[in-house]
Amino acid sequence: MKLGKVVMVVVLALGLSAFAPQAMAKTDVLFGGASIVGVYYQVALQISNLMNKNMGDKYNYIGRPTGGSVFNINAIIRETFDFGVAQSDRNFQAFKGLADWQGKPVTNMRSVFSMHPETVMLVTRKDTGIKKVADIKGKHINIGNPGSGQRFNAEEVLKIYGIDKDKDITAEGLQQHEASRALVDRKIDAFFYTVGNPSAAIEEPAQSVDMVMIPLDHPDIKKLAEEKPYYVYTKIPAGTYKGVDYDVPTYAVTATVISHEKVPDEVVYDMVKTVFERLDDLKKSHAAFRILEPKQMLQGLSAPFHPGAIKYYKEKGWM
Ligand code: GLU
Repeated sequence: MKLGKVVMVVVLALGLSAFAPQAMAKTDVLFGGASIVGVYYQVALQISNLMNKNMGDKYNYIGRPTGGSVFNINAIIRETFDFGVAQSDRNFQAFKGLADWQGKPVTNMRSVFSMHPETVMLVTRKDTGIKKVADIKGKHINIGNPGSGQRFNAEEVLKIYGIDKDKDITAEGLQQHEASRALVDRKIDAFFYTVGNPSAAIEEPAQSVDMVMIPLDHPDIKKLAEEKPYYVYTKIPAGTYKGVDYDVPTYAVTATVISHEKVPDEVVYDMVKTVFERLDDLKKSHAAFRILEPKQMLQGLSAPFHPGAIKYYKEKGWM
């Protein structure tokens, strides 16, 4: 090739590359939810939608179903998830080295914000004859899959009511989508679940069977709610679910969003900023999110806040 031609080709190639679209590598962000019929999966999915819609040139968010709170905390510890949802009581236990993390306090977990409240529930069908917790003796009860948050709450309630899970009931460890189905199919008599309201896990059985929700109002539950910073004594208002036209007293935790210390500040900052600046969109994406309120969303967390979140909260004067 003559020199002139070579120069032409080089100039052309350089010129073209200057106009070629820059193939920027997107950052993959993995967000752990829980069962597909619960609300955590909606947290992971809806925040992922929000991020992909508003910052899709920079991030590729993936919200995925998981085993629940304990699964998510353990995935955060191993740094396989960037974000995950976990109950406030499980968040506290992990941070302090209690329960599933006995003697092994989790040091790399970071708090991002709180989401919706979740009530501890015992759900049955009318035909089981179960009207109070004591009536579950001799019955087939789902207490939640290992890895879920609700399993601890179920065991705690059983203990308070003096029911031995190994002797007094046949305890199952089904995932919630299986448990909701099993209640309808009469394969179990009741299930425990700790979840935000309304949830598909309860709405769906309410459509096909006469559903009954059992009050969890033992004095020791009220006492527990007074003692523990992550519990509140509350009620599920009448009419929340089809056929349940009475208030159901119980206690509640808060769904928290967690991360780990190695997630870059910019990733957490971008997510937090987008969530708070598009909070109205997020609130509209699921009925359980309607009550979200910024100041409240900074409460109920145990692990230290992630520096990326702190940066935004300071900018807003919330910290
Ligand atoms: N609270 C449940 C758990 O940790 C999940 C509830 C939900 O999926 O909304 O494991």
